[in-house]
Amino acid sequence: MSVPFIDFTEQNKAIQAEVDAGFKRVVEKSAFIMGPDVKKFEEEFAAYCGVKYAAGVNSGTDALYMALAALNVGPGDEVILPTFTFIATALCVSDTGARVIFADIEEDTYNISADSLKKAITSKTKVIIPVHLYGQMANMDEIKAIADKHGIAVLEDACQAHGTRYKGVRSGASGRAGCFSFYPTKGLGAWGDGGIVVTNDEKLNHMVCMLRDYGRTDRYAHKIKGYNSRLDTLQAVVLSAKLKYLDQWNDMRKKVAALYARELAGSGVILPKNAADREHVYQTYAVRVKNRDQVMEALKAKGVASLIHYPIPIHLQEAYRDAGFKAGDFPVGEKVAHEILSLPMFPHMTEAQVKEVAQAIKGAL
Ligand SMILES: *Cc1c(COP(=O)(O)O)cnc(C)c1O
Repeated sequence: MSVPFIDFTEQNKAIQAEVDAGFKRVVEKSAFIMGPDVKKFEEEFAAYCGVKYAAGVNSGTDALYMALAALNVGPGDEVILPTFTFIATALCVSDTGARVIFADIEEDTYNISADSLKKAITSKTKVIIPVHLYGQMANMDEIKAIADKHGIAVLEDACQAHGTRYKGVRSGASGRAGCFSFYPTKGLGAWGDGGIVVTNDEKLNHMVCMLRDYGRTDRYAHKIKGYNSRLDTLQAVVLSAKLKYLDQWNDMRKKVAALYARELAGSGVILPKNAADREHVYQTYAVRVKNRDQVMEALKAKGVASLIHYPIPIHLQEAYRDAGFKAGDFPVGEKVAHEILSLPMFPHMTEAQVKEVAQAIKGAL
């Protein structure tokens, strides 16, 4: 039996009727840009996260970029982020003209290490971006304590962490702002690109709303130089329909993760760790194995899909060669990048599929 990395079939079925009706409504009115459907989803998502405001944009990358721009980040500033994340976390900083400063990660949760973060702070540090990797939040108490001590803003990269909680608080709700991606494979995925910035800060929200819409305050008045980066109306319809299921689907992911843990116990594979006080919604189910390339080959031979998130820490990417970091600077991130392996994970994954993956891994070891 082959096992796909993700299978959206059941999720699509669950929302199909609502989406069909929603698309029909949008098309009949030719209301393709913004409009009531985007506003409705923004309100629903803000309420879901437990914040006052949400501004839809066209990707997670743009959400991060515009939140940084709204925080006035630019040339001369430094922004700290973990080296072990998707490259977009760094690109959005570079786009502002600020300098990217990397920090190492914790070996058990793969999130930013508070010790490494402390060492990276200078008088120029303007923002810290913790990334809630794979569906588990970073240690927000520690990070906020460090940030508060130095008067630095915390911007959450929650692009992999829809609906997950730290001490009961949803991702996106504990920093100055939180940024989400709705790329199809994310925990809450659109049928195309999308993103959102959530915050309790009215001014920040207002800035993002102007930035995403040509810097506009009304139809003809442009207060600042903005962009065109809105959340597509048809995507908002899909997202509204899916949001109703998010908690249920996250619970199903947790069940799949528990099955993996049972099937892989004693196999020598390092399983994901769910830290105290934190929820893990397993947007990505990443394990660690020493001989990763061989294991991947063996899985492929059995028809089991797997991916690597991420094989190269950003400080070692060619695009960041000019950032001033070198191999050996972040030993934990570098080690994890060699061993990490993402296994198939989606809410409707069956016990038989999990067993098939686990069997293939044990065979390979
Ligand atoms: C997906 C992702 C992004 C970027 O989101 P896009 O919608 O693809 O632009 C940023 N940061 C992290 C951690 C991500 O996983």
